[in-house]
Formats: sequence, structure tokens, C-alpha cells
Amino acid sequence: MAAVEDILYNGILGHDRSVLAKAITLIESTADKDIKAAGNLLPRILPYSGHSIRLAVSGPPGAGKSTLIEKLGLYLIGQNHKIAVLAIDPSSTKSGGSILGDKTRMENLARSPDSFIRPSPSLGKTGGVAAKTRETILLCEAAGYDIIIIETMGVGQGELAVYNMVDFFLLVQIAGSGDELQGMKKGIVEVADSIVINKADGENIAEAEKARQQIEMALHYLSTSADWKVPVITSSASENRGIDKIWSIISDFISRQKLNQAFEKKRSGQNRDWMLSLIRNQMEGILFSDKTINQHMEKLEQQVLNDEILATSAAEQIIELFKERYKS
Ligand code: GDP
Repeated sequence: MAAVEDILYNGILGHDRSVLAKAITLIESTADKDIKAAGNLLPRILPYSGHSIRLAVSGPPGAGKSTLIEKLGLYLIGQNHKIAVLAIDPSSTKSGGSILGDKTRMENLARSPDSFIRPSPSLGKTGGVAAKTRETILLCEAAGYDIIIIETMGVGQGELAVYNMVDFFLLVQIAGSGDELQGMKKGIVEVADSIVINKADGENIAEAEKARQQIEMALHYLSTSADWKVPVITSSASENRGIDKIWSIISDFISRQKLNQAFEKKRSGQNRDWMLSLIRNQMEGILFSDKTINQHMEKLEQQVLNDEILATSAAEQIIELFKERYKS
């Protein structure tokens, strides 16, 4: 009988959506045998991955991200692209349930045979935000999706982790707070490659335009890159306006980056950071799952709390114990 990873490998390269879904479930699994199978599968699909544009769409809940992604997805499918949407779902960390799962989302996009939509649970402690999103991107690419859209909710740290997985970061906002930049978290504004003020329709048009101008002005002072002026535009996802403009901004950005090799450099830097964060996470996993070390750590924690030992000396003791125990 063929090994499970052979079946998945063939299915993915055969662009089979249901096999892709199974492969993602496998890489998200924490069972030992699944981790082993995933470890065999990923290097095999790697040569077929990478040939996509990876986008993040971020912004506060209710800004219209999923409406916009659906319209953008349909627009791109109209241009012969194949779209995968990975929605990072912060709710799944705490409750085990999923708010995204309950919501009927992107129905029209989901109906297209050229789309693949999947919530990506954000795992807790060890993996940080959406621990397996990177691997999922690779699988989707090998399965023939050439535009990968990662949707994240405005939950801080998560966006910054996602920024390190994508080629282009789109921030979706809505008008209404008066001081428009105040409502936006500074760290996120700084990583945005473009900002779109959505819901510029009906009575909201003038206000959206005002917000757009305010943000554009504020960005003028924040601007970090000399060769890319972050475009700030308005859109109405529900009325399907501004979608083509968003795509032309993204395409322009990507072609410029490819011209001066910044595209490849960014991706290699992301891979290096990925490697380092995997090492960090796994080392932490080894450290915190070692019973002897943990017992010692608990004692030291108490001593630090009681001011009986300096934090640096306590840390040093643990590191020494770790070295001792894992000396080969
Ligand atoms: P998300 O939480 O950011 O994904 O937001 P949704 O896409 O679920 O949209 C939240 C609500 O805003 C829904 O009721 C949408 O129908 C509505 N909405 C989304 N885009 C627009 C828009 O461009 N204009 C207006 N007026 N409503 C919109």
C-alpha cells in the first residue's frame, strides 16, 4: 500500500482540492506519526512551490476584509488566476471553536472551482500565530494556486508574524474615528504596502475620502522606504469598486520588487527567519517538556519571586543544567 504521503503528494501535484485539504490537516496535526509524514511530504512538494504572489489582508473586524477578498478573488479568477485564501482565526486558540467557521463567508468565491478557502487556526504557546500557515502556503502553491491571500484580524502581534510570510501587506480600514491614524496600530501601519479605506459608498463617500487624505498625510511623515510611496486608496467592496485599483497597485509593487531582486531577497530573509523561529520554538519545547529541568525551574522561579536569587543567575543555572542533560 502506498504511504499516506505518496497519496497526498500525487493528489497535490494533480491539483486535487480535497487532497490538498487533507494534506493541510496532516501538517496541522500534532500526532507523532503525522508530524513524521508531514516531514516527508514537505520537502517533496517544495520544488513545486514558491511560484505565487503571497498577499496579506489585515484590518479590524468588520472593515470588510472578507467581502473585499471575495471580490478580489473573483476578479483575479476572471483573469485566469487560481486563488487560495487562508483565514487566520484567532478565536480558535482559546475556545477550540472557530468564529470564522460559524460565519458563512465568501460564498461566491468558495463556489468557484479555481478557489480554495481554508481557516488556519492560530495555535497557542509553541507555534505562536498560525504555526503552520507557512507550510500551508507551500502546499497551496504546489497544488496550483498562484495567488495566496492570508486574511488576519486586527489582533496585533499576529499581523506582524503574517507580514513575514507575504510579499505584499494590504491594510483595510474604515473611516469614522476622526483622528484616523489613532485607530490604527502604529506597528501595522509601518508594515503596510498599501492602505485601503473600505466602505466608501453611499453617505460615507466624503468621509472615506477625508480619511484617505489624513492617512496619506500622516504617512508622509512616517514614510520608511524611498522607492515605494505607500498608496492610500478608497474602495467599496460591496459595490465592487476599487478592486481593480488594488490589484494594479499590488502588481506594480511586485514587478518593481522583481526588477531589483528585492522580491527574492525578501523571501530568502523570510526563510531564514522561519528557520530561526522553528529552532527557537523547538528548543523551547525541549526545555519546557523536560521534567527534571522543569522541577528545577519551579524552585528557581519561587526563589526569584522571593528575591533570594538574581534572575540572571537562575537563568544561568537552567542553561547549565540543560547543557549537562543534552551533552551527547
Ligand atoms: P471583516 O470582518 O473585515 O471580514 O468584514 P466583512 O467582510 O465580514 O464585512 C462586515 C460587514 O460590512 C458586512 O455586513 C458586509 O456586508 C459589510 N461591508 C463589507 N464591505 C462593505 C463596503 O464596501 N461597503 C459597505 N457599505 N458595507 C460593506
